[in-house]
Amino acid sequence: MSAPPNLIGMLPSELEDLAVELGASRYRGRQLATWIYRKSVYALDAMSDLPKDFRSALSDNRTVTLPDVARVTPSLDGSRKLVFRLEDDSRVSAVIMPDDDRITLCLSTQVGCGYACAFCLTGTMGLERNLTAGEIVGQLLAANALLAGEGQRVTHLVFMGMGEPLANFAALVKAVRIFTDAKLGLGYSPRRITVSTVGLVSGIEKLGREDLKVNLAVSLHASSDDVRSQLMPVNKSWNLSALMEAVRKYPLTHRQRVFFEYVMLDGVNDDVEDARRLARLLRGVKAKVNLIPFNDWEGSTFQRPPLPRILAFQSVLLDADITTTVRWSKGEDIGAACGQLREPVPA
Ligand code: SF4
Repeated sequence: MSAPPNLIGMLPSELEDLAVELGASRYRGRQLATWIYRKSVYALDAMSDLPKDFRSALSDNRTVTLPDVARVTPSLDGSRKLVFRLEDDSRVSAVIMPDDDRITLCLSTQVGCGYACAFCLTGTMGLERNLTAGEIVGQLLAANALLAGEGQRVTHLVFMGMGEPLANFAALVKAVRIFTDAKLGLGYSPRRITVSTVGLVSGIEKLGREDLKVNLAVSLHASSDDVRSQLMPVNKSWNLSALMEAVRKYPLTHRQRVFFEYVMLDGVNDDVEDARRLARLLRGVKAKVNLIPFNDWEGSTFQRPPLPRILAFQSVLLDADITTTVRWSKGEDIGAACGQLREPVPA
C-alpha cells in the first residue's frame, strides 16, 4: 500500500486550498505552512494552534514526512554526504559543504540521470525517475534538521547533485518557490540558490521566463562543439552557439553572473588553445568560470591534468578578464564530488 500524500513539497497556496477542502479556513493552511516550513515542525500533534478536528482530518489522509536518511558519510574536508532512502527504495544524495561563513547544500533532482556525460559516474546509471517536489524539499529540511542540532542551518543551495534539474522542471520550480517564499516558505534569497544545467536550451529559456531570479550555472566542459559533443551527448541537440544564445538572454540582475562549470580532463579539454577559445566564447557575457579538476572514479578513462596545465588554463582566462577559480571538489573521498553521486540500489 502506498503512503498517503506528503504535505512536504506542497506550496503554501496549495496548503491553503487543502485547508478549505477539509472544511477549514485558508488561514489554517497558512498556519500549517508556517509550522512545516518556518518552524520545522513535522508532527501534526505538535501543531498546537491548529484545531483538533483539522489536525485529525489531516492525519486521516495526509502525512508530514521527511525523507529517510539512510546514511551520513563525513568527509575529511568537512563536507557530509546524506544518502536518502526514498519511498520506492531508490537512493539519492545531498551533500552539505561548509565553507567559511556559508553552508551550501547540493541537492539532487532525479534518481540517476539520462544525459550520459562521458566523465560522469551518475550518468552511467541512466535516468530512473524524476524526484517529486516533496523529495527535493525534503532533502533541505532533513539537512537543516541535522544541522539544527549543531546550531546551524544551510545558507546556500545548489542544484548540482544527481540528475539534470531542468529536465524535472515543474518539481524544480515548485521547490524553488517553497525555498524562496519569504512569508510562508523557507525564506531563502534567490541569490543564494543556483540551478545548474547540462545545457538544456529550452529549459534555460523556460527558467528565465519563470523570473525566479536564481543563479544559473552551465556545465560547459569544452569550448568546441567537436569536443563537447564527445563529452556531452546533449551538445548534439543544442550546440554551443544555441547554448550561448540562450545564456545571453537569461535575465540577470545587476550583480549576477552566469557560472560556467568546466571539468578539466587531461589531454582532452585542458590546452591553452581550449582556454583561448573559451575566452572568445564568453566574450560579452557576465561570466564566472569554475575549473573543476576531474575527480577520478573506478572505471573512468579520464584523468586529472597536472597542476601546471590547470594553472596555465586559468591564467589565459584571467588575462581575458574572466573571473576564474579552480574548484577542488569537496567530498572527493566519500564519492560526493561533482559527477560522483551514485548510489547502489539494493536488490
Ligand atoms: S554531469 Fe550532470 S547532466 Fe551529465 S550525466 Fe552527470 S549528472 Fe547528468
